Amino acid sequence: MTFIWLIEEIGEFARILRSKEISITDASEELSDIVAWTSSIANLLGIDLESAISKKYPGVCLKCKSNPCVCSK
Ligand SMILES: [Mg+2]
Ligand SMILES: [Zn+2]
Repeated sequence: MTFIWLIEEIGEFARILRSKEISITDASEELSDIVAWTSSIANLLGIDLESAISKKYPGVCLKCKSNPCVCSK
């Protein structure tokens, strides 16, 4: 069920992106909703989201392992 709420929020965010004049306030709120429900799903699955994110995105380029990225050099 939590997953359905996440999809609902993604739908709300999509509607904002489709609007002619994108409201940054509204977009911020919907992105916050998306992160909140994502974090809720992680909790239900017993996933430590912060560790999972820093493991997958360690703050360096995943290709050259450097920060800043030196791939184009
Ligand atoms: Mg919302
Ligand atoms: Zn790189």
